[in-house]
Amino acid sequence: MLEVKNVTKRYGKNIACNDVSFTLEPGTLTVLLGPNGAGKSTIIKSIIGFLKFEGSITVNGVNNKTPEARKYLGYIPELPSLYPNLTVIEHMEFIARAYKLTDYKDRIDMLLTRFELDDKRKKFGDELSKGMQQKLNLCLGLLPDPDILLLDEPMLGLDPHAIKELKNYIEELRQAGKTMFISTHIIDSVDMLWDRTIIMQGGQIRANVARDEIEGSGKSLEDLFFEVTEGIEKEAVSSSGDEA
Ligand code: ADP
Repeated sequence: MLEVKNVTKRYGKNIACNDVSFTLEPGTLTVLLGPNGAGKSTIIKSIIGFLKFEGSITVNGVNNKTPEARKYLGYIPELPSLYPNLTVIEHMEFIARAYKLTDYKDRIDMLLTRFELDDKRKKFGDELSKGMQQKLNLCLGLLPDPDILLLDEPMLGLDPHAIKELKNYIEELRQAGKTMFISTHIIDSVDMLWDRTIIMQGGQIRANVARDEIEGSGKSLEDLFFEVTEGIEKEAVSSSGDEA
C-alpha cells in the first residue's frame, strides 16, 4: 500500500501541491486527472523520490526515499530523457543492469516487439522520432516490472497502435495484481478499467471517487470532471439565479 499524507510542495511562493493525502490500495488502478498545472507531476515526482516536500509518503509503511521502498516503485516520466549516443538495445540493457535484473533478454524482446521498436534496436537515441522516443521511454519504465507503477501522461505523443498496446499492457498488469497510478489531463485516454479517480486542481484534491460511486451516480467521468473543476452541474446552473 502506498500512502500519501498531507504532502505540500512549494516552489518559492507558489504551492504546487497543498496538503494532498490519498492511498493507493494494492492491486488497484488509480487515475489522476487534472488540468495543466494542477500538481499531478509534482505529486508523482514526490512519490518517486525526486522532490523534497512537507508531509509523508510511505510504501508498505516505509518512507518512500529508502532503498527498501524504492525497490517497489517504478516510474514512466512524461518526457523521455534518452542518451543520444546509446542505441535502443543499449538503453534497455543499461536499465536491466541498473536494476540488477536477471533473465531479462526475453522481456526486452517482448517489450520492443509489442511497442514496435524491434527493428530499431541499433538506432541511437537521437535518431528516433519523438513517438519512438516515447515508446522507448515506456519500455524502459516497464522493463523492471515494479509492484507499483507511476505513469505521468503516458499516452502523450504515442500513435494509435502504441496507445492500444499500452492500454492492453496496463490491463494485463492490473490483472497480474500490480498497483498503478496514471496521471493525465485527457479524460478520453483513460477509458480502460480503472478502480479509483482522483481529480486535482490548483494543487489540491477536489475529488477522490471509486468507480462504482461514479457509475452509481449516473454521471460520466467527464461530467464529474467538469462539475468539480469548473463548477458545471446541471442543478447548480439552473439555480444560479439565487446568487446575489
Ligand atoms: P501538472 O502535472 O498537473 O500539469 P505540475 O505538477 O507540473 O502540474 O505543476 C504544478 C504547479 O507547480 C504549476 O503551477 C507549475 O508551474 C509549478 N511548478 C512545477 N514545477 C516547477 C518548478 N520546477 N519550479 C517552479 N514551479 C514549478
